[in-house]
Formats: sequence, C-alpha cells, structure tokens
Amino acid sequence: MFQKLPSTDELLRQPELRALVERDGHVAVTESVRAVLSRLRQEISENRLDEKALDLALSGLAAAVEKHIRQSLCFSLQSVINATGVILHTNLGRAPLSSVVVSHITETATAYSNLEFDLASGQRGKRDVHVERLFQKLLAENNAVAMRPPGTGEAPVPPQPISTVVVNNNAAAVLLALNTLAEGGEVAVSRGELVEIGGSFRIPDVMAKSQATLREVGTTNRTRIADYERAITDRTRLLLRVHRSNFEITGFTEQPSLEELVALARRRNIPLLEDLGSGALFDLRSVGITTEPGVLDSLRLGVDVVTYSGDKLLGGPQGGLISGRSDLIARMRSNSLFRALRVDKLTYAALEATLLAYVKRDHDAIPVLRMMQLSKKEVASRAEGIAARIMSPKLKVEVIDGDSVIGGGAAPSAVLPTRLLAIVHADHSADDLCHRLRALSPPIIARVEEGRVLFDLRTVFPEQDSALAAALTSVARV
Ligand SMILES: *Cc1c(COP(=O)(O)O)cnc(C)c1O
Repeated sequence: MFQKLPSTDELLRQPELRALVERDGHVAVTESVRAVLSRLRQEISENRLDEKALDLALSGLAAAVEKHIRQSLCFSLQSVINATGVILHTNLGRAPLSSVVVSHITETATAYSNLEFDLASGQRGKRDVHVERLFQKLLAENNAVAMRPPGTGEAPVPPQPISTVVVNNNAAAVLLALNTLAEGGEVAVSRGELVEIGGSFRIPDVMAKSQATLREVGTTNRTRIADYERAITDRTRLLLRVHRSNFEITGFTEQPSLEELVALARRRNIPLLEDLGSGALFDLRSVGITTEPGVLDSLRLGVDVVTYSGDKLLGGPQGGLISGRSDLIARMRSNSLFRALRVDKLTYAALEATLLAYVKRDHDAIPVLRMMQLSKKEVASRAEGIAARIMSPKLKVEVIDGDSVIGGGAAPSAVLPTRLLAIVHADHSADDLCHRLRALSPPIIARVEEGRVLFDLRTVFPEQDSALAAALTSVARV
C-alpha cells in the first residue's frame, strides 16, 4: 500500500497544490504535504486503512493539505468567552483590558514614542516617569499623612515620600525586593506564610534565588510578635509578611497584626516588606469584600514596601509593582536585576492608561472593576434574557442562585452573589456539552456542577450575550 503514496515532489506538481504554493509559499505547503503524507504512512503501518479508505484519502490529498495549512497558519492564542464567573482567571489570562487601554497600547506600539526621551530638555529620559507621576497621585494621600501605627503609643513617624517601580510580574517584584534589601542577610517570615502560589512560585525558593536566608518564625498555625522579636539577630535585614492568597488557616490560629509588625520594624530599625499578591487600588469594601487589604491600607499603616501584581485586582497588564519608601525603591532601581526584569513600552502604555482611569475615577474603563460591581439583579436579568432565547426542546434551562469568585488568589473565601444559567441536555452529559462549547469559535468556557453546565454572566461581556445564546441553541441541536 505504501507504493500508492505519491512523493512530496509529485504532490507539489499537482495544479491545486501549485495554486496553494502561490498563495501560502513553498515552505508552508511543503511542510503540510510532508505532515499529511506522514500521517497516512502511520495509518497504513497501523493497519487502520483498507484499500478503499486509502483511495479515498488519496483523492482528497490536496484538500487535506489545505486544511493542514489553514490550521498551522491560524493563531493558537485566541480570545474565549469566560462564563466561569472567576473574574481573575489565571488560565484565561487574568484581567481583560478595555478598549481605552488598548488604544493607548496601539498608539504607542505602532509609532515611535518618548519612552525614554525627555521632550522638554531633548535629553535621555527614564521609562518609569510615565507611570510614577500617576502612582504619586494615587498614593499621594499617603505622602500627606504622618504615619503612626495606631494603638502602639509611639511617636508619629514623619511622612515618607513614596515611589513605585515596575517589573515583569509580582514574582519578579518579590525577587528584586528581597535581593535588594536582604542579599547576604536574613529575612524573618512566619511559617504560616511560606506559601506556594500557582505556577510554582514558592516563597522559600524565591528567597533562595534572591541570595537571602529564610528565617522561619513561629508555627504553621500560630505566630506571635514575640516570635519575630526572638528571631531578629544582627544579620536580620528584613521582616516579610506574605498574603496567603489561595488558602486560609482556620481554627486555632494567631498572626500578629500589621500594626504590631510595623511597630517592631520601627523599633528595631528593620524594613518591613509585604507581598500583597493582588494589591487593590480601590476600596473592595464597596463591593462587600472586607478581607482583602488594599495597597493604601498597608502603606498608611507604615509598611515600608509593598509588592503586588498589575493584572490581578488592579485590572491592568501583567506587571509587578513595588511601592514604598523612596530611599528603598531607589536602591531597587539601581540593582542590576532591575534592568533584567524591566518591562516594555506596551506594558507601560497599558499601565499608564489603567492608572489614569483610577485617577479620573473612571472605574468603567477597568473591566474587572465593572464585573465586580455588577449587581446580582443585573446578572440575573441577562441570564433570563438568554434563557428566553434558547429555543431547543433538548435543553432544560434554569436560572439559579450561585457565587462568582474573584480569583487570582485574592480574598479566597470572598464570593459575590450571582445568578447562574444552568443547563442540562436530554441526550448529552454536561462534560460532553462543555467539550462542544470549547470547540466553538470563540470557545466558551463554562463550569460543571452536579451534572449541570453553569454559566455566570458576570464574567461574560454584555456584547457576547447573543453569541452565547446562539451557541447554546446550536450545540443543543447535535
Ligand atoms: C499572585 C501572587 C504572586 C505572583 O504574582 P504574579 O504577578 O503572578 O507573578 C506572588 N505573591 C502572592 C501573594 C500572590 O498572590
């Protein structure tokens, strides 16, 4: 049967394939011809083709090559409809950006820019000035208030100027902060905070890479301020507090308050670094979440330096932000690691536009904030609208109570009450239905619970509602 297969050259001489070469180029077509022939050889060697099936395959070779080219030349990275209700879904790209933000990226990316050029003096400039001025405004309140750890009875601390630097992501921010402030020395951190975040970010490993020595304090469930006190030696360079992010310790637990840590850090003259993880720049209490500290909360209490992500609660591009005492931030800027971890102009453009939306209090320009602020009633009315448009006797459609979650490790136990579209197909399992939804263009990602497919419209953009309704009707048919 192998003799029946044409050679690559023979195939390339066929008129249909010559037309393909004209369109897509010799390299792409040859590669696809080889791939299609090798698949056939494989099928023959595994006895999966009889004579008739082989003849059929041979007559459709040109079409098979064309299909292969189409698949290999289309994008692998594509947009999807997120109906999971997880607002900051790391696997689905975390924070989506608004068109306002994207148009600033486009303007900056498709032309030359003043990225590192001072237009006033005509001299070389610094790339971080574009966002630093906005961080100054957003964290400015902090510049004005004398920071005193409440309840400690200590003298007010004079206001500290605050600066911010930007690196590639929060993992890089933690690495740079630890290396700058504690290389060769010890860092005291509670055993209850030695966390692993998704994607193998482990505090002890990052600590080792930063050339600082981890000094474990307390126990997994209980750590007191006296434990930190005892752990401090003349080699201690830093106290570290880490947001537990994706897990919680409940039961017989104890953790010193941030105020107590600030007071200890001041007394012993050792900086306090807090890895906030998400780091909100707006007050989450406005959406009913009281367990997630914001960037300003920590700085106001007197934490010296905080690190946080750009694409979690902030709702911007991937990035790692380090805000805190100007003298410490200046040291990070002059660390050679900073150059290795710096971000490109696209990130600066996206971050500048996102921060500007915060400055203008235009929270609608930040999609994740808009999603968090959606009321249960608004989500419900869209779910009911879609339910009414699904015309299929095969589908049982209901609108039920449920919870949306923030995701990204923020406020792990905090949920936003929502209404879900719950769907059961008469002949197909929920997993089967999800599989079909993922094969659509754009793919639709939903949740499965107790045999039902659940759709949370909180994370679906309103302009995607009709595509969702049409998709549900179409998958119901098969
Ligand atoms: C998410 C998170 C990180 C990692 O942030 P990336 O921006 O994903 O690198 C680090 N620390 C904490 C506490 C986090 O929640």
